[in-house]
Amino acid sequence: MPENCTKCDDPIRDTTVTFEKKPYHPECFVCHQCQKKLSGKAIYKHEGHNYDQECYGTFHAKRCAKCYEVLTDPKVSYVQYDGKTFHPDCFTCSRCDKSLAKQQFYLDGENKLCEKCH
Ligand SMILES: [Zn+2]
Ligand SMILES: [Zn+2]
Ligand SMILES: [Zn+2]
Ligand SMILES: [Zn+2]
Repeated sequence: MPENCTKCDDPIRDTTVTFEKKPYHPECFVCHQCQKKLSGKAIYKHEGHNYDQECYGTFHAKRCAKCYEVLTDPKVSYVQYDGKTFHPDCFTCSRCDKSLAKQQFYLDGENKLCEKCH
């Protein structure tokens, strides 16, 4: 008995793509945005839909609160601060521009200051 595709409900005869324990035709398991096949690619979920990295990055990824580049690199530990996310290099001292990621810093009104500038 072939399984039925989660998306189109037709039986799957050849290759099955399984995602979160549900079967799909390879051509049915596509990016919600660009409709390109997702099998074999990194999959990003957003509000119940699946996206490839490109579309997720373009439309849904968090952006750095300073430079507005997308933050999708799983190898980088981004800085979360005040409900915003920053690249480690973008989270800097307001006075000398040194990175404050993983550093002790001080607040002077709206400004974040490093230990030296404090
Ligand atoms: Zn299908
Ligand atoms: Zn896409
Ligand atoms: Zn940045
Ligand atoms: Zn400083």
